[in-house]
Amino acid sequence: MAQVYDRVALIGLGLIASSMFWAMKRGGLAGEVVGFARSAETRDTAREIGLCDRVCDTLLEAVEGADLVVLCVPVGVMGAIAADMAAALKPGATVTDVGSVKADVIAQVGPQLPQNVHFIPGHPLAGTEHSGPKSGFAELFDNRWCLLVPSEGTDPAATEKLRALWEGMGANVEEMDAEHHDLVLAVTSHAPHLIAYTMVGVADDLRRVTDSEVIKYSAAGFRDFTRIAASDPTMWRDVFLSNKEATLEILGRFTEELFALQRAIRQGDGDHLHDYFTRTRAIRRGIIEAGQDTDAPNFGREVGKK
Ligand code: NAP
Repeated sequence: MAQVYDRVALIGLGLIASSMFWAMKRGGLAGEVVGFARSAETRDTAREIGLCDRVCDTLLEAVEGADLVVLCVPVGVMGAIAADMAAALKPGATVTDVGSVKADVIAQVGPQLPQNVHFIPGHPLAGTEHSGPKSGFAELFDNRWCLLVPSEGTDPAATEKLRALWEGMGANVEEMDAEHHDLVLAVTSHAPHLIAYTMVGVADDLRRVTDSEVIKYSAAGFRDFTRIAASDPTMWRDVFLSNKEATLEILGRFTEELFALQRAIRQGDGDHLHDYFTRTRAIRRGIIEAGQDTDAPNFGREVGKK
């Protein structure tokens, strides 16, 4: 694969940034990748494991001379970081981000950036419940979607370049507007995470079973909620605070459906339950046909493996 950018700066060195680094290396997509993280501990770890060609001790040093700057930090701090780095950006550079929310990030970051850089927000729809510099791997974005959110005035050539980078890292790229992105993600990611957090929280409240049965019999379904509910607390706090309206809209609808199912159970309305579950099963089939998950039983976990 051909090199897309001469120098890329990754700001924040967690799961997404480290996966981007390994994916860029795999594809030979960048001449040099420099990195910066807030804590000395993360920067030291990055140096130890060879994450980034160069790890910088300051934000300004990292962005200086970079053709592409990628904000890979929680969405709540992106605006402040953009303000801190603005003066050091190279004219003509592209600034992007990987944040899980778009409208709020655009509102925070956009006004901080100088006119002579291209700001093209992005969001790779790929992740795991792990975080930190050691959690990344080159294959994370393979066959996953990456959504780009260029604004009307964005230079198409800059967008094409960023698209080429994501495609080189294995992703399928689509463009979307910010409000639509936030609603789609509220349905597919944000509300499901909140529901998983709630379910695990409820189980934890039932102290009399938590210590023994909940863990012991978790493979009955609860285990899959716990995986999602183990996701990074800072990242998810920021997601809910910045995608407030869309998440509340979807949770409102969720509550209504939940009440309807509750009523069906109370009234012994088996037809309602059966019809509902038949409809939801078809959605699972659609996801598998779209290549977004495995059809293997138990999500492909080895049978008998704890
Ligand atoms: P992560 O593994 O927790 O890493 C976050 C990084 O941000 C760390 O290097 C951390 O530095 C740095 N950071 C945190 N607060 C900071 C601050 N106030 N100033 C400067 N740096 C700070 O996170 P991640 O999972 O890669 O997520 C990064 C972004 O990707 C988030 O915006 C998230 O919404 C988005 N995203 C995540 C996923 C996912 O599943 N995880 C998927 C798609 C998109 P230290 O290590 O020094 O604390």
